[in-house]
Amino acid sequence: MAIDLDKITRKLRVAPGKPFRLADHDPGWAGDGDIPEQDRKEFAEGLLASDVADLARMQELLWASDTWSVLAIFQAMDAAGKDGAIKHVMSGVNPQGVEVTSFKKPSEEELDHTFLWRCMKRVPERGRIGIFNRSYYEEVLVVRVHDRLLEAQRIPGVRPTSKTWADRFDDINAFERHLVRNGTAIVKFFLNISRKEQRKRFLARIDEPDKHWKFSPADVAERQHWDAYMKAYEEALAATSTEQAPWYVVPADKKWVSRAVVAGVLAATIRGLKLEWPAVDDAKRRQIEEARRLLEAE
Ligand code: ATP
Ligand code: MG
Repeated sequence: MAIDLDKITRKLRVAPGKPFRLADHDPGWAGDGDIPEQDRKEFAEGLLASDVADLARMQELLWASDTWSVLAIFQAMDAAGKDGAIKHVMSGVNPQGVEVTSFKKPSEEELDHTFLWRCMKRVPERGRIGIFNRSYYEEVLVVRVHDRLLEAQRIPGVRPTSKTWADRFDDINAFERHLVRNGTAIVKFFLNISRKEQRKRFLARIDEPDKHWKFSPADVAERQHWDAYMKAYEEALAATSTEQAPWYVVPADKKWVSRAVVAGVLAATIRGLKLEWPAVDDAKRRQIEEARRLLEAE
C-alpha cells in the first residue's frame, strides 16, 4: 500500500507565519482515501510498530553521537490521549534515554519564579529524549482562560491583556530558539480531540469502574470553557510554530491515528538531525584488538 507520509506530515504541520485556523483540522481525520477505509486501522498500527522500532534505533544513535537532544512537547484537552500516545510511542525506547515530565498546577515555589523556570530544569541533556506532558504552553492556555491564575503569579504590572499573551509568545519563541541553537531539537504535538469525542471518553470513564481513577469532576467543569480553550490554542499555535520548533495538529478522535502520527513525526524529526555513529579511530581500534588478545589468552 502506498501512502505519502511527507504529504500528511506537511498537512498537519502549522506553517510558520501563515494564517492558521483550527477549523481546518478535522479531529476525526483517519486517512485521505489512498487506503480503503476498512484497512486503515491495520495500516496505521503497522506504521506505529515500524516507527517504534525505528525510534529505538535512533535513540541509541542519539545517545552514541552525544550531540543533540530532542524535546517533544504534548499539549491537549483532557482525555485526548496524551498519556497513551507517550506510552505507546516510547514503548520500544531504552528507558534510560528518555525522561517524561508531567507539568501540573505550579507549586508556591514555582510561582515565585518566571514561568519558564520549572521547565528549563527538565530540558533533556545531550543524547537524550525529553518529553513534556503539558509544558510552559499552559501559561498561554489555562492561564489565559482563567484570569485568577495570572493574578496568582503576582507579576508587577502584568494584566490579562492581549499584550501579555503576545509577550509570552515572544518569550517562548526566544526560549525555544535558544534551545535549538544549543543542540536541543524541538517538536510539538497538539492532540486535537473533538468536544463530542471528549464527552464520549468521559462517559466511558464514568461507566467503567476500572476507569474511575481516571475521572476527575474538574475535567467536566473545564469542558465548559471549550471555546475559550480553542481560541487560546489557535492563537498560541499560530504564534509559536516556527521552522525550528514546529507544531503538529494531530487528529486525536481515533487513538490509532494519533499514535501513528506522533511516532511518524518524532521518528522523522530525529532522522532529520542526520546523526552519525561516532567514528572509531586507529588508536581505539588497537585498544579493541589488544582487549581481544587479553581475553583470548585467559
Ligand atoms: P490526565 O490525563 O491524567 O488528566 P493531566 O495532564 O490532565 O493528565 P492533571 O493532573 O489532571 O493532569 O491536570 C494537570 C492540570 O494542571 C491541568 O488542568 C493543567 O491545565 C494544569 N496546569 C498545568 N500547568 C499549569 C500552569 N502553569 N498553571 C496553571 N495550571 C496548570
Ligand atoms: Mg486531567
